[in-house]
Amino acid sequence: MLRQCFDEFTRSSAYACFLISSTGIILRSNAVAAQMLGQGGDLLAGRNITQLTTTPAEMVVHYLKRCLQSREPVPGALCWQTDMPGREVDCYCHGHRLFISPAEKEPVLLLHCQLRERAANSFAALNQTLENLRVSHHKLIHKSNQLTNEILERKEVKKKLAESHERLTTVLDGLDAVVYVADMQTYELMFLNKYAIDILGITGSGVGQICWQTLQKDQTGPCSFCTNQRLVDAEGNPADVYRWEFQNTQNGCWYDIRDRAIRWIDGRIVRMEIATDITKRKKSEQVLEQKNAELENFTYAISHDLKSPIITIKGFLGSLVSDARTGDFERMEADVNRIAKAADKMQALLDDVLELSRIGRLVNPAAELSMTEAASEAIEDLAALIREKNAVVTVEADMPSVFVDCHRIREVMQNLIENAVKYSGSQAEPRVEVGSKVLADGQGAYFVKDNGIGIEPKFYDKIFGLFEKLDPHSPGTGIGLALVKRIIELHGGKIWVESTGQDHGSIFYFTLPRQQTVAED
Ligand code: ADP
Repeated sequence: MLRQCFDEFTRSSAYACFLISSTGIILRSNAVAAQMLGQGGDLLAGRNITQLTTTPAEMVVHYLKRCLQSREPVPGALCWQTDMPGREVDCYCHGHRLFISPAEKEPVLLLHCQLRERAANSFAALNQTLENLRVSHHKLIHKSNQLTNEILERKEVKKKLAESHERLTTVLDGLDAVVYVADMQTYELMFLNKYAIDILGITGSGVGQICWQTLQKDQTGPCSFCTNQRLVDAEGNPADVYRWEFQNTQNGCWYDIRDRAIRWIDGRIVRMEIATDITKRKKSEQVLEQKNAELENFTYAISHDLKSPIITIKGFLGSLVSDARTGDFERMEADVNRIAKAADKMQALLDDVLELSRIGRLVNPAAELSMTEAASEAIEDLAALIREKNAVVTVEADMPSVFVDCHRIREVMQNLIENAVKYSGSQAEPRVEVGSKVLADGQGAYFVKDNGIGIEPKFYDKIFGLFEKLDPHSPGTGIGLALVKRIIELHGGKIWVESTGQDHGSIFYFTLPRQQTVAED
């Protein structure tokens, strides 16, 4: 039974195992033991352990004794003889005392032996493992230190980034330009400077709102003019600054815009826009363009208009020479008259040109002018024409006064009344009425109404152009209404015409400031 148990438990053991009696007799051994000593198990059984070991017998006996007395396994070292003469094996052993049954007085010993060599190998392996562990541990500590440093560095970098970001936003806040930052995918606003918030009337910081909804008007989706595509290269990295000009759809102001994709503090690539208001410059450019166009028109018209009296003069000079040769004094006188008339026309044209060049500025300071008086004075100056046309001109008494360059507004009044009488056509009783009225929008206006030839609606704008005449054979240079419009607009007013058509008379309306707010040009 004991032997069976021993066999059972030691069969798969990696150690040499011996079952030994209290007197040192080997009762049983396992295959590893037989292999270690080079002898069959049956040859070992019955032999005293002291015969099989080269360790001095008294040390072996002492060791066995200690094992028999101890409850715990007792470590020791034994040197065994093998079947090869002179070859010994050194072992580490553990001796376990076993009581097989309470009835038995003498216990037996179970002896586990492990070759010192193999143990050494195991120790070496263990040592190696320990060394590896130690290295790994060291590496881990090193790595952990590195990580700690990296974390600290990152924290430092993050802090510095936050500081420089704050500095940037402070600078942007102080700019006199619209500055905003928006996510390029979601169009969400991430920053708006103070100027943008004020100028666009945004409530709160605007952050989180959608740029095309907040910064533009009537957009149903991302703006068709959005420059996002131009701000990144093919790989999606920030490209160069994109500069353009645009009139904001919300406030109507013109902006010189610089757009750029940048990396925002949270790592996102965002669009930053800096837009400087150039509305004034744009307006000046538009005025300049208009003036250039006017000048071109003017040059063309003046050269054209001056040509006809020159041709007339030249023609009659030729006939004057032949008159002189034939001595026809009567024809000479008629020729001279024609030449003089053509010269007068040239003079009138040149006077108008001079007038036009002076009209660019209001020369006289604004003063209060009674429009009733201005109209009456104009009628006095035009008395000859009015009489000639048999016209009746009436003026509303006590029309509201205006604050204007009085000289210029008298010119306006005179021009309009003169036209009203001049273009009476075949009207038997030409009537002209000068008055004032309050318009539907509450604004006060003045008017000059006639019952003359009238104006077709398609010419309402044209007649205010330079040298525009609806009838090329009518007297005049076609400059009067252009001057009138310019003067009215320089005062911040408006002028327009209404007529029910040809032969139904016309009404010229104009507005002027009634308080001291004349625009300085
Ligand atoms: P001018 O009278 O020297 O031709 P204006 O600039 O004063 O130049 O007028 C331009 C044109 O507008 C005139 O030639 C005429 O055809 C038309 N016009 C101006 N005033 C009237 C009016 N009261 N009724 C009809 N046509 C007018």
